[in-house]
Amino acid sequence: MIDRDEGVLAHIRGSHERYLDELKALIAIPSVSANPQHRSDMERCARFLVERMSEIGLRSELLPTEGAPFAYGRYGNDPSKPTVLIYGHYDVQPAEPFDLWRSPPFEGTVRDGNIYGRGSVDDKGQVLMHLAALEAHLRVRGDLPINIIVLVEGEEEIGSPSFERALARHHDLFQADLAIISDTAVYADDTPALTTSVRGLVHWDVRVTGPSEDLHSGYFGGIVRNPIEALAMLIASLKDEQARVLVPRFYEGAPSIDEALEIEIRKLAYDEAASAAELGVPQLWGERGVHPLARMWYRPTLECNGIWGGYQGPGHKTVIPSFACAKLSARLVGAQDPLVVRDAVKRYLLAHAPAGVRVEVEDEGTARAVLIGRDHPAVAAASKAMRRGFGKDPVFIGTGGSITPVGSFDRIYGLPQVLIGVGLPDDRIHAPNEKFSLKQFFGGIETMAMLYDELAESLPARERSAR
Ligand SMILES: [Zn+2]
Repeated sequence: MIDRDEGVLAHIRGSHERYLDELKALIAIPSVSANPQHRSDMERCARFLVERMSEIGLRSELLPTEGAPFAYGRYGNDPSKPTVLIYGHYDVQPAEPFDLWRSPPFEGTVRDGNIYGRGSVDDKGQVLMHLAALEAHLRVRGDLPINIIVLVEGEEEIGSPSFERALARHHDLFQADLAIISDTAVYADDTPALTTSVRGLVHWDVRVTGPSEDLHSGYFGGIVRNPIEALAMLIASLKDEQARVLVPRFYEGAPSIDEALEIEIRKLAYDEAASAAELGVPQLWGERGVHPLARMWYRPTLECNGIWGGYQGPGHKTVIPSFACAKLSARLVGAQDPLVVRDAVKRYLLAHAPAGVRVEVEDEGTARAVLIGRDHPAVAAASKAMRRGFGKDPVFIGTGGSITPVGSFDRIYGLPQVLIGVGLPDDRIHAPNEKFSLKQFFGGIETMAMLYDELAESLPARERSAR
């Protein structure tokens, strides 16, 4: 067994340059899902992956969706082996502003032990990590220890709008025992991690309307309520001075941080002052008595994401504006029901509408939080694989962000999931100068190669599993 591992690892270690060339070729396709001008690049990128999968020895094809196609690959259909679905995405965030990049965003550039480029770590590099690991198994051993389904979508960065309908449409192609998602980061450079919770998300648009048009503030100042002031009061009324949300039922289903979790969090190195300095704020802020990591991963939030109204050009314009608008969103945890939270906040905003203006609220989004059960054998398998790839046991962390497909796999298929990403916290995903550390990339390939073996040993085969 060890010899066979040596062969796989030797294959991987002898292929680093080629892996980098592949990643560069993938980065060179500007698959920006948010921009319709890149439509043909989406398909080109999906085709690149389909071809790559078929070179490795997977059966692969382009699966149409209502939006960008899926790149789909499959190996094995042996009922005595478990089936594992590997999820990733080939679309990327827009690269603007271009002038802040030190090297062109769509030209993978290696410097200081990193490869720079849009999508290098989110998520092209992490997708290729799996393809490289699968290839190493197939080249060296001629087989895989598990049945594999690879699903790489092209709309993650815009909230995966076509994902669920495409899953339903191709239902029979995605029957698996487990999903592996490599689209997250580790805790720190020297601390590998498994992510065991993902927050949910809901949104609101709030519009406060006053006079039917902007009014001269000299003639009419003093007799109408200013919509900007009314909106500011309304938003400020959502929380108290301790940063607790005052909306009734908002916290329903949100677990408090229990002692075991508290102890686990306190074991992680975390410097509040350093974090504040890095973020450029005079001090951190949030729920009193709750550790900042717990506030980011395991507690809900309610934020104002944008606010506008009135005159914003140069100089001054003395008006009482006709309206003011804001965008709000909440991140959800535990068993918080997105519909309950959506309605509760809407009702609160309408009930607290200041006199003299009209308040309208539109809501959107139903993404629930997902908790990954830590006692699932796949989590132990992933821990072992990470130790072998990075020489250290992983810690358990949450992610404050929301990954739409994680919610879909959970809700539609009830699939257990392992979130095993290897990005670093300072990779600047979504920002200029996104990078992927080569150490993480290559260590990640070894981790994934070992993970398939560990899963083969720890997961029940399909024919034995209750389905
Ligand atoms: Zn991503």
